[in-house]
Amino acid sequence: MRVYNFSAGPAVLPEEVLKEAADEMLDYKGTGMSVMEMSHRSKAYDAIIKEAEKDIRDLMNIPDNYKVLFLQGGASQQFAAVPMNLMKNGKAAYIITGQWAKKAYQEAQKYGEAVAVASSADKTFSYIPDCSDLDIPEDADYVYICENNTIYGTKFWQLPNTKGKDLVADVSSCFLSEPVDVTKYGVIYGGVQKNVGPAGVVIAIIREDLIRDDVNPATPTMLKWKTQADADSLYNTPPCYGIYICGKVFKWIKKMGGLEAMKAHNEKKAKILYDFLDQSKLFKGTVEKKDRSLMNVPFVTGNEELDAKFVKEATAAGFVNLKGHRTVGGMRASIYNAMPIEGVEKLVEFMKKFEAENA
Ligand code: PMP
Repeated sequence: MRVYNFSAGPAVLPEEVLKEAADEMLDYKGTGMSVMEMSHRSKAYDAIIKEAEKDIRDLMNIPDNYKVLFLQGGASQQFAAVPMNLMKNGKAAYIITGQWAKKAYQEAQKYGEAVAVASSADKTFSYIPDCSDLDIPEDADYVYICENNTIYGTKFWQLPNTKGKDLVADVSSCFLSEPVDVTKYGVIYGGVQKNVGPAGVVIAIIREDLIRDDVNPATPTMLKWKTQADADSLYNTPPCYGIYICGKVFKWIKKMGGLEAMKAHNEKKAKILYDFLDQSKLFKGTVEKKDRSLMNVPFVTGNEELDAKFVKEATAAGFVNLKGHRTVGGMRASIYNAMPIEGVEKLVEFMKKFEAENA
């Protein structure tokens, strides 16, 4: 029996994708082997990675002057790769909206001057600061955001005014959840283990002029985007199986109607949960309404013991991984693309019942 998995990541994947992968486990399309056993230089694998790239390009409408790289090292590795590849003037502006943005900012300080131009730390990152007129240094090489804040459940619904600087966005927890205008970004990257596939793959979409040879000389070969771009993500052995699953998820999203349909599906799910939270006498959301994420929904009862009781009873009822991040407590329901609408409906039913019993 499968549970309703509200994990923030690694997270729920489409059941169809998992079944298809299971069917192909021992013999991928007549090759007599699993994709796990296949050379990354083989014809069969070449077709898999090329098709995956084509499908994500179609889905996100990625212009030709952007490269799509399939990388490793998690999103955290890019916290270093971004400044190493992009800090030409040795300076960048960071907007601090949570722990992942803060970690990226701290890592960037190793390679240059990272300037925090805005922050929502004053209210435990429960909102997105006004970024319409920030004091961005003239010589900043880029402006950095974490577009959806997995831990706190906030999302940039309006991108910052970067004053002409290139925008770099970590989209790990909102990847492929809605349509995106790629041209507004210099770099979009994310770990795939939430909306796109199994942990171990990072996808980076980078405007070609930002893929340079004159990077920080200390940049490891593997972290230099040009190394990866010149080799079409096959400089070394890539995370082959993970990319294969990402490819299947891209096809699933296409079949579901693409990113417009994903957005509608995600809005519908989030509305069910937020509408309930807004009228509940027991549970309440922790985020400013205008900044609420469609993907990660944190909530509390206001009583730690009751929170723990809720998580325990929910787990027993098949709603798992609802415990909030260890640094914030309370609960968090992550409702990524692959979470079916019934999962959210049933969770809300369960919350109503819990509220009635614990009022
Ligand atoms: N950025 C965001 C927005 C995240 O949610 C996470 C992980 N949950 C990370 C970065 C770090 O990702 P990784 O574990 O792949 O390094």
